[in-house]
Amino acid sequence: MPHHCTLIPGDGIGPEVAEAAVRAIDATGVDIAWQRVELNESIILESGKALPQHVLDSLNETRVGLKGPVTTPVAGGFQSVNVQLRKALDLFANVRPVRTLPGIKTRFQDVAIDMVIFRENTEDLYSGLEHEVVKDVVTSLKVITRTASERIARYAFQYAAKNARKQVTAIHKANIMKLADGLFLRCCRETAAQFPQIRYKELIVDNASMQLVVRPETFDVLLLPNLYGDIVSDLAAGLVGGLGIVPGANMGQAHAVFEAVHGSAPDIAGQGKANPTAMMLSGVMLLTHLGENDAAARLQSSIESVYQDGQCLTGDVGGTGSTGEFTDAVLRRLQ
Ligand code: NAD
Repeated sequence: MPHHCTLIPGDGIGPEVAEAAVRAIDATGVDIAWQRVELNESIILESGKALPQHVLDSLNETRVGLKGPVTTPVAGGFQSVNVQLRKALDLFANVRPVRTLPGIKTRFQDVAIDMVIFRENTEDLYSGLEHEVVKDVVTSLKVITRTASERIARYAFQYAAKNARKQVTAIHKANIMKLADGLFLRCCRETAAQFPQIRYKELIVDNASMQLVVRPETFDVLLLPNLYGDIVSDLAAGLVGGLGIVPGANMGQAHAVFEAVHGSAPDIAGQGKANPTAMMLSGVMLLTHLGENDAAARLQSSIESVYQDGQCLTGDVGGTGSTGEFTDAVLRRLQ
């Protein structure tokens, strides 16, 4: 029986990295029946909905998705499809492992970075509740609830306990947003008390950003509300070689959608320059989710072996290879 998975190539570099990831996942030998659904600007404009029904129908059927990035217009236009999808399916936990790949040349190549970011995925300033009170005066509502804060905290601590992680750091700005971030922090503290074997720390987000650059090796599990989680994810990606290599998972009670941290990268779209590693590593997370642990381990080690070798890497990590050449190198190791 094949696994049924929804494939959303997205737009920009999405279709290029999605194709590469599907080739790599299929090459592990795991039988996956991909349900391909298109989601891009023209389909959104045509349907008149930020999240067309056919996407939800497919994900409700398969419960598992591999998703490429989708462009969101800046300062106007339709609402973010990515945010809508996370809310519609209640994908409350955004999980992003940030690790140094073997052999990769970065500014921090002599530092062993291995952290996992848990970003709350459904509320905060992503509520989309904005309002022009009077001309040139705008408010944006930051929504923080006990329910959402508790479940992301529990998810992060449960992950830490299950994966022998030693420390969880909650990141906040509760010195300024005493009510909103204060509630988030209280939920983190209460959850931490239920996991006495895991060291619990708190850092204010500005200090955390500095500490991440100065001593990234001291971070283990990071626990953040939505906006800080978004920003800190890109910062952390920069520590290990950039957005081309950091995968992610949007996890809910019933659904799981795997996608890279990066966006649609319009500056390099359609040029064969995109690094498919982040999407392939999201595929590793998908295979693990499906219980295909052996295939996940083989794909992970094939990708690492290409990095160790240093040939066929894409431009963002210092190589001269194309998306296709990198993918072929991974596939050769999977045979
Ligand atoms: P981006 O992540 O698309 O790109 C930032 C920089 O990183 C660019 O220089 C890009 O070339 C580079 N980059 C990103 N992925 C790469 C890869 N795989 N290989 C090599 N280089 C890579 O961020 P942006 O430019 O701020 O956003 C572009 C669009 O993507 C926006 O519309 C934004 O809303 C959207 N976006 C979507 C998602 C998503 O679908 N989940 C996430 C973030 C941004």
